[in-house]
Amino acid sequence: MKITKIETIPIRLPTRRVHQWASLTTPIGVYVIVKLEIDEGLIGLGEAPVLKDWGGDHMKYYGETPGTTLHVINDIVAPALIGQDPCRIEALHSLMDKTIKGYPYCKAAIDMALHDVVGRAFKIPAYQLLGGCYRERVKVAHSIGLMEINKAVEEALQVKDEGIKTVKLKGGIESKRDIDLVKQVRKALGPDIEITVDANQGYPTAKSAAQTIKAMEEYGILYMEQPVEGIDSMAEVTRRVNTPIMADESAWTTQDILEIIQKKAADIISLYTTKPGGLLKAKKVAAIAEAAGLQLNVNGSVETGVGNAANLHLAAATGPATLACVIPVSTPREKTKGRIAGIYYQDDIVTEPFEFVDGEILVPSKPGLGIELDEDKIKRYRVE
Ligand SMILES: [Mg+2]
Repeated sequence: MKITKIETIPIRLPTRRVHQWASLTTPIGVYVIVKLEIDEGLIGLGEAPVLKDWGGDHMKYYGETPGTTLHVINDIVAPALIGQDPCRIEALHSLMDKTIKGYPYCKAAIDMALHDVVGRAFKIPAYQLLGGCYRERVKVAHSIGLMEINKAVEEALQVKDEGIKTVKLKGGIESKRDIDLVKQVRKALGPDIEITVDANQGYPTAKSAAQTIKAMEEYGILYMEQPVEGIDSMAEVTRRVNTPIMADESAWTTQDILEIIQKKAADIISLYTTKPGGLLKAKKVAAIAEAAGLQLNVNGSVETGVGNAANLHLAAATGPATLACVIPVSTPREKTKGRIAGIYYQDDIVTEPFEFVDGEILVPSKPGLGIELDEDKIKRYRVE
């Protein structure tokens, strides 16, 4: 098998509501879909859900844009990969890393497409390339962006009705407001729904973050995600509170996880397909975390159905990813039926919706990522 062609398609899907978080300066929007073709005529799909204003601690890793993604893939990565064997995924990662430093989202999109096309070629689901199916269903955490407290309560109640068992609240803007948000959402949801808070590095100091978290403990939070910026500050928060702390912006690569472990900077790792640069590398991140007894979930950047499928295969094949995952159950417009649980976009570019049952998504089991593109929608949502 040989890679013959790599195509990039920037798209913008209509959104259900604005999804705001502490570090976001412009609405999320244009993501890049990758089609990787091999000489047997098969096509693998990938996605780069690029955000220009989301990155690692202190700009250690930083934003990619649709424009940089098109340039890096079309002009640099694709020419290096054409003619290569798509089955040699680890070797192709080395080749990509030698060809250009950084750009993990571009490389993740290629890596997803490689897993998809190889799975299609051998007629096996992508999770078989990642260690096999550890779980057939993935618990969904519904993410509620920054919004007025009464609106957040309303949305939390609706998704509870629709089967969601974990609600993630965006915070990190103002401690008093965040504590009140947790209090009001807990009051509305009752004791049986898990509540988590993601501050997106928003609290100014480790001490203030610790005070905020301690105040939230009265209302029961499962964990606090990335309260502050920087692994040393994260370690200080972790020392000061009983609530488990999740590292997200601090945790991209295997080296980051080693540092987090050495400094005891978190209890939980937010695992992405994109941050380390693809599914293969994400499995390595998970292995390091597991060795230190850290818990994991799979998080993302509000991907379309392509990236969501990759995240589902990662969650399916990663044993220690036991916590509910932020994988939006994006659904083709004609099949949404008014449900909002887990849903962010008003439409999707895949032909079939993911099956959502009792707060969980069933992992696709068709070959590759197990999805097909709706080419009419690609035409409709393509941007130039
Ligand atoms: Mg986060």
